[in-house]
Amino acid sequence: MIVIVPHSRPPVIGRFAPSPTGPLHFGTLVSALASYLQVRQGSGKWLLRIEDLDPPRVVAGSADAILFLLEGLGFEWDNEIVYQSRRFDRYRDILEGLRHQQMVFECGCSRREIFASAPHAGEEGPVYPGTCRYGTGSGRSQRSLRLKVGSEDIFFVDGIQGKQRQNLERDVGDFVLYRGDGVFAYQLAVVIDDMDAGVTHVVRGADLLFSTPRQIWLYRCLGVNPPAYYHHPLVLGSDTQKLSKRDGSYTLICAANGGRMLWLALDFLGQAPPSDLVSASPQEVLGWGIENFSVAGIGRENRSIHC
Ligand code: GLU
Repeated sequence: MIVIVPHSRPPVIGRFAPSPTGPLHFGTLVSALASYLQVRQGSGKWLLRIEDLDPPRVVAGSADAILFLLEGLGFEWDNEIVYQSRRFDRYRDILEGLRHQQMVFECGCSRREIFASAPHAGEEGPVYPGTCRYGTGSGRSQRSLRLKVGSEDIFFVDGIQGKQRQNLERDVGDFVLYRGDGVFAYQLAVVIDDMDAGVTHVVRGADLLFSTPRQIWLYRCLGVNPPAYYHHPLVLGSDTQKLSKRDGSYTLICAANGGRMLWLALDFLGQAPPSDLVSASPQEVLGWGIENFSVAGIGRENRSIHC
């Protein structure tokens, strides 16, 4: 007798990782919603992480305000909330390990020096010219730690943006994992946190698409498989720039207009929610989203929304 064992997919572990630098704005709500719906369509877990890595950028009270709002909108998260500010020992250990393996080196270059000696301007600032890779100049005090990059192209297929390819050596250079001012870099923390939590699916805005090959490289250095990536298009503000805190109307998300905001976020994500759902409660809109969400509906084009 042949027994057919139903094929079961491993559960999706997704996460939402807002930076507490102000109130939740519409662009961030879109990330939260897409990640949430992807997880809740199966029996996965949805984790929350507060990315309070960089003390001067943290706005007091905003982490709590974001959590309060998410709760009011009906989002339910699994496990305890992770705060990056409580994980510095872990980041330090991993950095030490990389240093031991000579994958990381000290760099004493100032921004001005890098600008002056960069081989060319990369998409996100000057490409690091490798000055300190084989020993720093004397008399330099503030030191960052950089990860050596390889010369090979990094390929990955983004679940929304399609095939991606980047050459870190040419487009970025050895990149910072620990800043000269004593702050752990986002690239380091995000990889360690996602790795430790077993995150399988990362959904976030397309502004981080360019960072992804750096993160994949770091996973490779740590001998761990990276998660699947889904970079949704960006919500543009009135000036066709990425939506920001200056766009006041988009930051006015509250539980009272939550159903409408979630409806707009579903619409932005190409899910074509029925028009009468626009006045439903947040919970009803989320329920509809869980039943109907499809990543395939999400386009690639950044655009603004009309409230
Ligand atoms: N903390 C980042 C933000 O709020 C998101 C980082 C990530 O999802 O990897 O834009």
